Amino acid sequence: MTYRAPAADILFSMIHEAGMDPDRKDGIYSDLGDGFAEATLNEAGKFAETVLAPLNRTGDKEGAKCEAGKVTSAPGFASAYRKWTAGGWNAITGPANYGGTGLPVLLNTACIEIWSGANVAFTLCPLLTLGAIETMQSHATEALKKLYLGKLVSGEWTGTMNLTEPQAGSDLGGLKTRAERQPDGTYKLFGSKIFITYGEHEMADNIIHFVLARLPDAPKGSRGISLFLVPKILVNSDGSFGAHNDVFCASLEHKLGIHASPTCTMVYGDHGGATGFLVGEENKGLACMFTMMNSARLNIGVQGVAIAERAFQQALAYAKERRQGRALGEVGEGMSPIVRHPDVMRMLMTMKALAGAARAICFVTAESIDRSRRAADRAERDKASERASLLTPVAKAFSTDIANEVASLGIQVHGGMGYIEETGAAQHLRDARIAAIYEGTNGIQAIDLVQRKLSLSQGDTVRRELADMGEVIGALGETNAASFGEMELCLREAVDALERATSFMLDASAAHPNEALAGATPYLRLFAIARGGTLLAKGARAAHRLSNAGNNNPLLAERIVSARFFAENIAPAAHGLAREVTRGAGSVLADAAALGRQ
Ligand SMILES: Cc1cc2nc3c(=O)[nH]c(=O)nc-3n(C[C@H](O)[C@H](O)[C@H](O)COP(=O)(O)OP(=O)(O)OC[C@H]3O[C@@H](n4cnc5c(N)ncnc54)[C@H](O)[C@@H]3O)c2cc1C
Repeated sequence: MTYRAPAADILFSMIHEAGMDPDRKDGIYSDLGDGFAEATLNEAGKFAETVLAPLNRTGDKEGAKCEAGKVTSAPGFASAYRKWTAGGWNAITGPANYGGTGLPVLLNTACIEIWSGANVAFTLCPLLTLGAIETMQSHATEALKKLYLGKLVSGEWTGTMNLTEPQAGSDLGGLKTRAERQPDGTYKLFGSKIFITYGEHEMADNIIHFVLARLPDAPKGSRGISLFLVPKILVNSDGSFGAHNDVFCASLEHKLGIHASPTCTMVYGDHGGATGFLVGEENKGLACMFTMMNSARLNIGVQGVAIAERAFQQALAYAKERRQGRALGEVGEGMSPIVRHPDVMRMLMTMKALAGAARAICFVTAESIDRSRRAADRAERDKASERASLLTPVAKAFSTDIANEVASLGIQVHGGMGYIEETGAAQHLRDARIAAIYEGTNGIQAIDLVQRKLSLSQGDTVRRELADMGEVIGALGETNAASFGEMELCLREAVDALERATSFMLDASAAHPNEALAGATPYLRLFAIARGGTLLAKGARAAHRLSNAGNNNPLLAERIVSARFFAENIAPAAHGLAREVTRGAGSVLADAAALGRQ
């Protein structure tokens, strides 16, 4: 089925859940006034629906191909990529002095949802380039920026992220790729990297690899890793092309999903060494790479939202057409569309509410990034930066977990047809599966949240987040609308549960670290449920206010129903999750550890 960019829903979430208001006195989004955000989303939607979406199914069927190290992208992808760069889409957030438009991360995040919804495998390529741009902006020398940054911003060249090696996945301290200093200040790299997304392709004239490697005298583990820029084609000082660098694609992986995204094994230095240029300082590469990874983590979260939205759209359309059984209370002859059966509607509402909550969390994370860069006041920038750090693992892990759940429910709504490839519902589940694994597995995100993020500013950052959730609930009580049902009560219980679990985690992280680690995944889910539910409730309040003021857009009623469904049907899991965190996982897993020793 065709994809419809949910621009109105997205805009509502940006304004009423993430707080985008171009007229606000703090001026964070003053460049988005006069309907600019709406117009951009509509244009992005047109591009997604007409250029990217038609290639999604064929990309899945045909995939990218590799022959003797030469990778050919899936049919239509190279031409779509040319249209992408010609349309200026690659440059939305890029720095203005390198040809970018310098627009806020929130608007780009919203566009990424639209493009990924249309074609997740295509959109991965510009997502990696975006991470490369951010890394260069923060850590590269002016000389490197002058040669490479403008081309990455325009999209004429694409970027990659080369971390993973067979023995170094979640733990990059184990990586072995070697870098040797050269008399002219450059480096020669030797080694191989696996699973490199868009490591090789013909859609752009050059590919700029960002590669983690180890110097001969580097300290052991993660403190001895440096970051290098390694171009596929060497670039002369006047910007012209030199020789092909000593970096080649050895093969492509055969995968469960995202078939059109080439996943490459890259070999460096088989013919004398690949020329690389240091980015940042020697042995500080992991810190530089984290710039790229944080942006990438939010964007992969958004990828989860996008797949969930698309799976929902497809399931809803099918449920309106497919007729089976007879819904209670139906008049007339014949079978009812399955959408009229309460259990099918329950599945559809679960899909919609989960996708909406994940979207709101991602957008608030993006807003915090903008605030950390654009606020006039230094203290406000620092607070926003910590908020973005706290929310990033939640945005990444929750959104990609729910993408898997929602895509699976999408198949369930289709019944047997969902299991048949031609329907297209199965592709969403296959494509979604990787998002919970790459850019740091969701288990690693949960550990990051519990071990590093809860302790930010001695716990004040998470306490501010809890206070914000409390404020939303207080405001719900004031609204007192019949259409809100038990939203206030259910969300209050969820936030209370999160408060209990957070106190436990803040103590346990120091005193009983294994218990904190064992409860990290249920804690992240609990956090996301409380945060996602309260953000949807904030949107519901705005929808209620607008309706009372005479706005009869049907989207407003949908927002209220969706927020209420989340609060009454999904948020009650919070209580059980808090119990799992505080009393469950730690002790029983200590007993279960025997299994791993047998
Ligand atoms: C399609 C695809 C595209 C990719 N693209 C890129 C790319 O462009 N660039 C790149 O560098 N890499 C890329 N990757 C690699 C990806 O980032 C890694 O697969 C991922 O980080 C996990 O590493 P691993 O596969 O070695 O799993 P492992 O690290 O072996 O993890 C296996 C399991 O153990 C758990 N685990 C590991 N360590 C811990 C711990 N300390 N505590 C608790 N649990 C733990 C994990 O959560 C996971 O469940 C890609 C992978 C795929 C499949």
